[in-house]
Amino acid sequence: MDFRFTAEEEAFRQEVREFIRREMPPDWEGVFLEEEEEDWKQGRAFVKKLSQKGWVAPAWPKEYGGMEASPALQLVYNEEMGYHRAPIGSIIQAVGYIGPAILFFGTEEQKNQHLPPITAGEIVWCQGFSEPEAGSDLASLKCRAVKDGDDWVINGDKIWTSNAHRSEWCILLARTDPAAPKHKGISFFLVDMQTPGITVQPTINMANVHSFNQVFFEDVRVPSSALLGQENQGWYIAAMTLDYERSSLVAAAVSMAKRGLDDLVEYCKETKVNGRSLLDNPLVRHKLSEMAIEIEVGKYMVYRVVSQQARKEPGSIEAAVCKLYNTEMDVRLANTGIQILGLYGQLHKDSKWVRMMGRFQKSYLYAIAMVIGGGSSEIQRNIIAMRGLGLPRG
Ligand SMILES: Cc1cc2nc3c(=O)[nH]c(=O)nc-3n(C[C@H](O)[C@H](O)[C@H](O)COP(=O)(O)OP(=O)(O)OC[C@H]3O[C@@H](n4cnc5c(N)ncnc54)[C@H](O)[C@@H]3O)c2cc1C
Repeated sequence: MDFRFTAEEEAFRQEVREFIRREMPPDWEGVFLEEEEEDWKQGRAFVKKLSQKGWVAPAWPKEYGGMEASPALQLVYNEEMGYHRAPIGSIIQAVGYIGPAILFFGTEEQKNQHLPPITAGEIVWCQGFSEPEAGSDLASLKCRAVKDGDDWVINGDKIWTSNAHRSEWCILLARTDPAAPKHKGISFFLVDMQTPGITVQPTINMANVHSFNQVFFEDVRVPSSALLGQENQGWYIAAMTLDYERSSLVAAAVSMAKRGLDDLVEYCKETKVNGRSLLDNPLVRHKLSEMAIEIEVGKYMVYRVVSQQARKEPGSIEAAVCKLYNTEMDVRLANTGIQILGLYGQLHKDSKWVRMMGRFQKSYLYAIAMVIGGGSSEIQRNIIAMRGLGLPRG
């Protein structure tokens, strides 16, 4: 197996690297998903600059604003964005898995309506899948869409909807045939968040930031063109969307973890305790090398998924393995950072005693959420056991 990138891919890597250095906000802290208002604005401005280069969604077809990049070129791009902590949180959902769903299942009209505004950096999308009683068991969702003439009328509520308060559009799963077996009576909708009857209510996360929402739909009337794919085909589309979500979430995250480790190594080199560098401490060295090995393993898991995509092979199991391993690895990295930084590691970025801009404090609070979002570790293990290993349903 040859892991080297081609000359063209390496040249693109340099170009992306230089672009990020030039265009990144000057005092950028590399915060997670740009949740605070000022960070969000800076992130949106950065995405606008990406769009001017045609780089919002490199793998998409040119006619929708992409550059038809190969999976390997897309990987190079993701690695650089992740390593430099580029502020692209606002497009992760639209580019990573919502756009691909529209590309695969949308009509020409839907593709023309929805894809160019994403690559132009104009429109933010959110994902309305989870409900208060349908998270891991997503197919139990109760949100209803009922046909009324040419329209659909939607009633129900969604929970943990990231960025709903900043989104113009939402992908929504709703039950359209309550009499059918639960996986077979669901449809997939594209809903304009300005439609009357939609209420977005904030949910504050444990980092004390407004990122999630609960979204209520009360007699929300959408046109027939809001249906993506066929009526009652929603589960099938959602499954593909979730595969994309799992693999797209981790590609940049592994490089971001590598950057976190590199910064930690630098910190240990520079920090002296009783006259000796932290890096001379065998326990610290051991922890750092363990993380270096884990990150390297995670990187090759991503490469495996990418090489499958390049061969156009289905990669549902590998996406689950990749998501499971890498999100749990990120928790171990956050723990390692917090342990090495000691009590300083727990300080908020605004403290005058803060170390490394409070990044490990923040990732400590966020890493665990990534283990749950996109399907928890237990659910990934169930997928690997049943679909990958052929074990019986537990
Ligand atoms: C950061 C983050 C962002 C998110 N963003 C979105 C979003 O934008 N849109 C959206 O729709 N949703 C979003 N979610 C919701 C996410 O998809 C759900 O939290 C997740 O699917 C788990 O569902 P739940 O919270 O209802 O937990 P539950 O399903 O109630 O699970 C509770 C616990 O039971 C375990 N469990 C459940 N069923 C099984 C089983 N069959 N076998 C073994 N263990 C099981 C779970 O692993 C978990 O530990 C987000 C979540 C997070 C953390």
